[in-house]
Amino acid sequence: MHLFETVREMGHEQVLYCHGKNPDIKAIIAIHDTSLGPAMGATRLFPYPNEEAALRDALRLSRGMTYKAACANIPVGGGKAVIIANPKDKTDDMLRAYGSFIERLNGRFITGQDVNITPQDVRTISQETKYVVGVEEKSGGPAPITALGVFLGIKAAVEFRWKTQRLEGMKVAVQGLGNVGKNLCQHLHEQGIQLFVTDVDNKKAEEVKRLFGATVVEPDQIYSVNVDVFAPCALGGIINDETIPLMQTTIIAGAANNQLWNEQIHSHMLVKKGILYCPDYVINAGGIINVYNEMIGYNEEKAFKQVDNIYHTLMTIFNIAKQQNITTNDAAQQVAEARISQAKLNMNKAIAA
Ligand code: NAD
Repeated sequence: MHLFETVREMGHEQVLYCHGKNPDIKAIIAIHDTSLGPAMGATRLFPYPNEEAALRDALRLSRGMTYKAACANIPVGGGKAVIIANPKDKTDDMLRAYGSFIERLNGRFITGQDVNITPQDVRTISQETKYVVGVEEKSGGPAPITALGVFLGIKAAVEFRWKTQRLEGMKVAVQGLGNVGKNLCQHLHEQGIQLFVTDVDNKKAEEVKRLFGATVVEPDQIYSVNVDVFAPCALGGIINDETIPLMQTTIIAGAANNQLWNEQIHSHMLVKKGILYCPDYVINAGGIINVYNEMIGYNEEKAFKQVDNIYHTLMTIFNIAKQQNITTNDAAQQVAEARISQAKLNMNKAIAA
């Protein structure tokens, strides 16, 4: 991979290779764009087969964070860090050494917890740097706010598709009844929505049946239930060549990350089938809104108010997609890029003044 060519194409500002001999550490910090604010992105520790795979992950995920923050309308940029290591070789010394790299960036990059990094690891990293979030939960966790964002996203999609604010009597299928899925079911149940739910953990499905009168279906049956909205809240990659032909829904609106197996191919397949897709990183932005609010001093009322942005941004995205005859995914990217360009313009004006 030609690094400069790749970062120019993807628009990254900076890519840092962090290396230490004792303790042994190899990490890559990718800072995609800081026009809106400091780059924020969690740290992933993974036994990548080679350096190139680690770099690709850091570049791809950091760019995704820029778009996610821009669509959420919060003053945060996009970044991501990957530590190249086997989880069994992880040591506190390694994490502290990593923390000191972050500290030296002086707040240009703020990180948190991702794959193979535990809350305890975040605490260890925080011994060397203050630029880390999730050390202390000040908000009770991100799931309630994420679920509210998804609920507002469903409202936006229903309103856009059927010109109604009335959800009563609609049918929604929820895949995954964990922290977000169960909270979402509560919002939907309160609106008089008929729920069809699934989870690989049968106990969770039975609990949602008991609490909200949901109909439980087998995990592989959830795609073919005839509903108005399908809400994926479990895994990524579940919108693919096998599942799209089974779907009998009009809207897809859920919390799971990276729902489309292939962004280009499968977003177009959904358009062809007449399914309105809420881009995952827009509708599930409650998590990043929550982290941002923890960072600036948590105020529940303010944080929940910001989640309203998800509804308004999705409406803008649906309208752009319709007017320009493009996918909602492409429209979301346009919205994010417009907000970033505006921030750059404002910055240049302020420098010139
Ligand atoms: P969770 O781990 O609490 O819940 C996931 C649930 O999905 C579990 O109950 C699990 O048993 C179930 N599941 C796993 N495989 C399944 C399958 N094949 N079929 C049906 N159910 C299955 O996670 P969560 O915090 O509720 O998050 C849900 C999704 O939303 C994840 O993809 C997560 O990355 C994404 N997300 C979460 C947040 C947040 O604030 N928690 C924010 C943004 C995105």
